[in-house]
Amino acid sequence: MQPANFPATTDLVLIGGGHSHAIALKLFGMKPLPGVRLTLITDVSHAPYSGMLPGHVAGFYSFDETHIDLRRLARFSQAQFLRDRAIGLDLVNNKVICANRPPVSFDYLSIDIGSTPATNSIPGASEYAIAAKPVPQFLQAWNRVVEAVTNNPKQPISITIVGGGAGGVELALNMQARLHQVLKNARQSLDNLTIHIVHSGADLLAGHSRWVSQRLQQILFNRGIKLHLQETVTEVLPDKVICRSGLTVECDYTFWVTQASAPSWIKESGIATDSQGFILVKDTLQSVSHPHIFAAGDIATMQHYSRPKAGVFAVRQGKPLFENLQRIILGKKLKAYIPQKYYLSLIGTGDKTAIASWSFLGWESPLLWRWKDSIDRKFMQRFSNLPQMEKDD
Ligand SMILES: Cc1cc2nc3c(=O)[nH]c(=O)nc-3n(C[C@H](O)[C@H](O)[C@H](O)COP(=O)(O)OP(=O)(O)OC[C@H]3O[C@@H](n4cnc5c(N)ncnc54)[C@H](O)[C@@H]3O)c2cc1C
Repeated sequence: MQPANFPATTDLVLIGGGHSHAIALKLFGMKPLPGVRLTLITDVSHAPYSGMLPGHVAGFYSFDETHIDLRRLARFSQAQFLRDRAIGLDLVNNKVICANRPPVSFDYLSIDIGSTPATNSIPGASEYAIAAKPVPQFLQAWNRVVEAVTNNPKQPISITIVGGGAGGVELALNMQARLHQVLKNARQSLDNLTIHIVHSGADLLAGHSRWVSQRLQQILFNRGIKLHLQETVTEVLPDKVICRSGLTVECDYTFWVTQASAPSWIKESGIATDSQGFILVKDTLQSVSHPHIFAAGDIATMQHYSRPKAGVFAVRQGKPLFENLQRIILGKKLKAYIPQKYYLSLIGTGDKTAIASWSFLGWESPLLWRWKDSIDRKFMQRFSNLPQMEKDD
């Protein structure tokens, strides 16, 4: 039942079609709220699913298998679909400033725009390095690399990946798998490809167990991927990266997979952020400074819980976000969401094997890849198999 003072139309605007919003949109489609006008502002029509991205790079999955069709999902949830980029917030008048259209008014706002690897502080990085996010630009660049090797397989090629977290290591292994396949098809030597990982830490995959870190280091070594640990990149040039120690790594392409950063317009809007510019939220996923604004996924930092920026948390926040958006509109008490302390990571090693990492435990097996594959496919099916209430044009 709606309260008597329930307004005729409440504008709920979602910025970004990240993992949490994809789930919330699906739930809004299944349980619509009368009187609510839902709007999705997204700069892409197809949102990548992070869990399958490295597998897509390796060539195991197609674009469609790894991307959520947001336009279709918005239609299912009866949301207005605005293909645009949010570039600011007017928090006095409750409007989202967009790159290509007049400001969009909201009563309630939710932000799930992810993060991008920080390139700003390193000279040359934003000009010459290819960031792993935004994903569409990354995939365009990656497809050009695959095309270049396909068209000219005799030409030696060298790739540097900056960042030895799970994303960087998984990308290195999956890029190598894909390009080795291209070279094999062209009957060329696999030695034509050199991959480097440059990592500032003493160990790979900070936050994972010693076994996981060392096992991946061993796999990289076995596959001939050159690892440069405790090296901090100080400059990127078109054909090399330069490190503080004086090490210079010559390469044709540099990929950037370092620490997550937030866009500057978030902090500039006046909403409360953490020291890195991510939106600070309460346990209810509401902004600590603006309770009618919610945030989830990488762009949100939970005030009471320190957790890594990982897709698994963005996925988990989808349902509580949906529930609290409904509750605030209905004038009900919001529920606290407590993120899990330990979470399972399944890291694909490019050969249809995966390593499981959970707390201080680790395990490696092809069975884990099959398990990961089935979890990931099931997740994607939630958005491809929309229930019958959908009205496709
Ligand atoms: C190479 C790589 C591999 C990874 N693998 C894993 C993994 O296996 N498991 C895991 O848990 N995590 C993984 N991660 C981390 C994971 O990608 C992120 O934690 C996850 O995507 C965060 O989800 P999100 O919902 O916050 O945002 P995203 O999934 O990044 O979605 C944000 C969406 O908002 C859109 N958007 C951005 N800015 C705007 C704007 N201004 N206006 C409108 N729309 C906007 C974007 O286009 C995007 O569609 C990986 C990261 C990388 C780089």
